[in-house]
Amino acid sequence: MKKTLTVLFLSLFMVIATACGTNNEEKEQSDKDEQGKLEVVTTYSILYDIVKNVGGDKVNVHSLAPIGGDPHEYEPLPVDVQKTTDADIVFYNGLNLETGNGWFKKLLSSTGKDGEDAPVYQMSKGVEAKLLTSKGNKGAEDPHAWLDVRNGIVYTQNAKDALIEVDPENTEYYEQNAENYIAQLEQLHADAVEKFSQIPKEKRFLVTSEGAFKYFSDAYDFEAAYIWEINAENEGSPQQVKKVVDIIRENNIKALFVETSIDSRPMETVSRETNVPIEGVLFTDSLGEPGADGDTYIKMMEWNMNTIYDALTNVE
Ligand SMILES: [Zn+2]
Repeated sequence: MKKTLTVLFLSLFMVIATACGTNNEEKEQSDKDEQGKLEVVTTYSILYDIVKNVGGDKVNVHSLAPIGGDPHEYEPLPVDVQKTTDADIVFYNGLNLETGNGWFKKLLSSTGKDGEDAPVYQMSKGVEAKLLTSKGNKGAEDPHAWLDVRNGIVYTQNAKDALIEVDPENTEYYEQNAENYIAQLEQLHADAVEKFSQIPKEKRFLVTSEGAFKYFSDAYDFEAAYIWEINAENEGSPQQVKKVVDIIRENNIKALFVETSIDSRPMETVSRETNVPIEGVLFTDSLGEPGADGDTYIKMMEWNMNTIYDALTNVE
């Protein structure tokens, strides 16, 4: 009798185990494409690169705002709508980045990704937000958290957690990739702190078109000034130009910077009015073109750090 019961229990257990196995397999099939890769969408190229580093060959990633494009205000193309509809995971920055013309919210609702259970993840979750201060923006969150490499580490952890949640089978793979990548980011941050400590404090002043350097300035002990505070507002009005010209004169600033993804004409006006040269081009809201400078998050940060260091140490 006892033996019969044991056999019965074992058989039952096997039936249940087999049934569960089949269900899981079906779920895996539906979550991935034919090559077993997760379909991932990110709102811009910097998130694209971080997710690629964690997801490796288990993910196909599509960036909505293309390289050189502006993620504050973007018009999704038909391909973006298709990719977002098909995506197993969507990553966005949050902190007010993708809100310029409401494009991202509209995209989520038109692709059925606006439900509570939709696999849409905020990369900046857990970052301590800095707030905008200019008229009309006051109190809103500043999105440019990734320009502090310590926040890049938070983004990496969030990407890893989301990938594991959607694709638990590859947990170890994602954890290992994230660990390796975070080690590189920690080194990059430490190098930056060391490098910038060699510049006298009074020279550590960053003037850019958009005020994207709040987080960066906090991380590496800079002062920052800008023509306009955030893209998606009036960019380069005479009042904005006058204000930054005054700051440049008052602080005896010797170098100006422009950003790769922004029209350089307003800063050229500032340069003419102050007679202070534009000493370098920085990456803020986009990576560089593949194969060119700054084509990964780490390389764009290194580029920025070297450009700023060289410009501020070369001036009198
Ligand atoms: Zn920006």
